[in-house]
Amino acid sequence: DKLASNFTARNARSKRIHDAAIKSLPGGNTRSVLYYEPFPLSIKRAEGSNLFDVDGHDYVDLLGEYTAGLYGHSEPLIINAITEAAKRGINFGSQHEDEGKLAELVKQRFPSMELIRFTNSGTEATLMALSAAKAYTDRSKILVFDGGYHGGAFTFKNGKSSVVNAPHDYLIARYNDLPSVYALLDDDANRQQVAAIIVEPMMGSSGAIPPVAKFLEGMRHLATAAGAVLIFDEVMTSRMHAGGGIQSQLSASIRPDMTTLGKYIGGGMSFGAFGGKREIMELFDPRKPNALSHAGTFNNNVLTMSAGRVGLEQIFTPERASQLHARGDKLRKTLQDVSRGTLMKVTGYGSILCFHWSATEVEDIKSPQDLKDDDKTLGDVFHLYLLDRGFYIARRGFVALSLALTEAQLDGFVAVVRDFLRAHEQ
Ligand code: PLP
Repeated sequence: DKLASNFTARNARSKRIHDAAIKSLPGGNTRSVLYYEPFPLSIKRAEGSNLFDVDGHDYVDLLGEYTAGLYGHSEPLIINAITEAAKRGINFGSQHEDEGKLAELVKQRFPSMELIRFTNSGTEATLMALSAAKAYTDRSKILVFDGGYHGGAFTFKNGKSSVVNAPHDYLIARYNDLPSVYALLDDDANRQQVAAIIVEPMMGSSGAIPPVAKFLEGMRHLATAAGAVLIFDEVMTSRMHAGGGIQSQLSASIRPDMTTLGKYIGGGMSFGAFGGKREIMELFDPRKPNALSHAGTFNNNVLTMSAGRVGLEQIFTPERASQLHARGDKLRKTLQDVSRGTLMKVTGYGSILCFHWSATEVEDIKSPQDLKDDDKTLGDVFHLYLLDRGFYIARRGFVALSLALTEAQLDGFVAVVRDFLRAHEQ
């Protein structure tokens, strides 16, 4: 309560902006995930690894736009690419060279994506990948995981789709639990009708829960046995490893049939992509009779294609991908050491981490259902505490490192986490 009243007192301008926005936006908000009590800060400017709010405070940005902000804010090469592109024209209503070049760069990192299409968001990429899988298999069911997040329209919680009129006929299994998948596919009707298994190679939004050994391999075998398309949603995890995503760590025989991407790959602009096996993606080839349609006014907009190309070509080189990954692993290990014996649990992989407030040990957190005792109130207190000390993370404890963060900023973060634990745990 004290933290909340301090927050209100410190952030009078943010409050005024929120009060005004409430008149036109539900809850003053247009991205549900960005709301928190008592009201969200209004940020007016960002640079490198810092955010600046309207009341004159600055924050170390550890949220990194839920992974889309990999390059940091206003990265000079990205800004240059966008500015130059804008001078040439924002959207031509025509093909142009950068889209083929960006596709080529993505393919180099994700060899399982033999052909690619671009979209405006990860949500659309999922939508199109699922449509492709249904058309390719001529089947109707989609196997997903409880807690899975594949975009605003594809969210699964407590055994249900969170969309009222869910667009697909879903089978919902438990993450990291192969027997729960076997059980669903044991049913003849399910097995014969399953068009796709879609899985996050690390469950992201539900708390950065990595796959256990052999889980993804198991998915490959089960999808093949059932004749279903295996889709890896690497919208969040595509930043992992120099080789491109979590799939780069699997042997070539266990790669997915299709992959969805988004976030930073568009250079921080609106972006999504789906792709995979040639014979599936050729369904969209407009030279073919009865080709599937895939449209989108902004799919190949010049700004995104140019920013994305420069980012992959000049900034997020394989070396930097490895460095960032190692940095995230080191930070998580330090935080796990610092919090040993407390309710704070830090999960994740590489440069993505998530804080939980649970008695369950990190190695036993294999699905969101293992976090039933997560103390969300303590999580909210931690969030406000960090804001007060100048560190910006997601309310639900999610952290995604950007390339712009310095060692000193990460050390400062660890020190503040220690202070919090000292003050809030016996
Ligand atoms: N898939 C995953 C795994 C995601 O984490 C997200 C977004 O967080 C999406 C899809 C949706 O992407 P977008 O927000 O660009 O629609």
